[in-house]
Amino acid sequence: MEEQNPFKNAQKQLDDAAEIMNLDRHAHALLREPMQTVTVNFPVRMKDNTTKTFTGFRVMYNNARGPGKGGIRFHPHEDLDTVKALSAWMTWKCSLANIPFGGAKGGVICDTKSMNDFELEALSRQYIRSIAGFIGPKTDIPAPDVYTTPQIMAWMMDEYSKIKGHNEFGVITGKPLETWGSEGRSDSTAMGAMYVLREAAKMKKLNLRKAKIAIQGFGNAGSFAFELATKLFGSKIVAISDSRGGVYLESGLDFNKLKDVKERTGNLESYKGAQKITNEQLLELDVDVLIPAAIENQVTKSNADKVNASILLELANGPVTPDADGILAQNGVFDLPDFLVNSGGVIGSYFEWAQNTQNYYWTKDEVYQKLDTIITKSFKDVIATQKQYAEKGKKINTRMAAYIIAVGRVAAAMKARGWY
Ligand code: GLU
Repeated sequence: MEEQNPFKNAQKQLDDAAEIMNLDRHAHALLREPMQTVTVNFPVRMKDNTTKTFTGFRVMYNNARGPGKGGIRFHPHEDLDTVKALSAWMTWKCSLANIPFGGAKGGVICDTKSMNDFELEALSRQYIRSIAGFIGPKTDIPAPDVYTTPQIMAWMMDEYSKIKGHNEFGVITGKPLETWGSEGRSDSTAMGAMYVLREAAKMKKLNLRKAKIAIQGFGNAGSFAFELATKLFGSKIVAISDSRGGVYLESGLDFNKLKDVKERTGNLESYKGAQKITNEQLLELDVDVLIPAAIENQVTKSNADKVNASILLELANGPVTPDADGILAQNGVFDLPDFLVNSGGVIGSYFEWAQNTQNYYWTKDEVYQKLDTIITKSFKDVIATQKQYAEKGKKINTRMAAYIIAVGRVAAAMKARGWY
């Protein structure tokens, strides 16, 4: 797969939207770069008693509509440009959902697979100590992302609270329930995607009960998407993969069996009776719904032509590159953009933060209901915007429609605040 720079891709998407919507050039300039970029290097004591230096980032892209919001990734190939791109996408995500946050993102270059819990806790605490001056419940609120878990969020909240001298539960979201996480947050990313899928299927007259689905990724988003699509719609998940590769079974895979295989063997490929496939093959399968739920840059101009699904549900951040968009549109693939599809995660985080700041807690049903209301409205806004532009003779895809709404709101807030 060719090299892609996610931040250049994020800028390209913004530039395209700016042109179509006639965005003020001062607003455009402000929105092309992050407001604040922090790089930290910090020591961590390892299990063999040596000290290792790690590099981490925290980027605040824009806070015109509220404090920064966005996850922290622990990844061996993390780099500043990826974090910058992800922080931009968080800005558009929070704006499209119309929740009172700006966008931010963090990351640490590390390989969690080679670390034990002791080292992981030490790294998490040291990272928070390094960025403590830049985060806070009213400044910038982190959350989980790739290879970071609720347990890691609890350690980070604890470290921040110790620095402040009092509990600050609202400094971070995606925490375990014991430390005032929110009901429904653990699967809110996938649940949000299911509400979007329900609406998209209605629109495209696709019967989800009979639908065949392929999912790339078996992390938090992918595994819950598997479970929920089967439970809520009775859809058949015919393929799934993790970073090592995946499996395909025409008659449909069983979630519990798959979970068991992964737990016992560490991979998915030992699933009995299923055919082994690569991540690339999974994207090209003849299915109704394709859900990339792993990492960025998966559908590019080199394989977009081979996508056979009628609905592409972008559950990961940035799985489709800008040069693939046109090809997908030409082939009639109904592609729903990441910052709409996966916004259930940050919407769940918003609920957690709101509960933390009020010290008043909601039931799971309340959380799901509120999530459904917000994300279904976002979907309808996107479709309505697409229609409005079509009536003006401008054919735009759903990603552009989502950009136009999100960028428009941030620009309007910056204007009202006198930033341009
Ligand atoms: N990491 C998730 C995302 O990319 C959630 C962010 C959050 O909850 O702040 O949307």
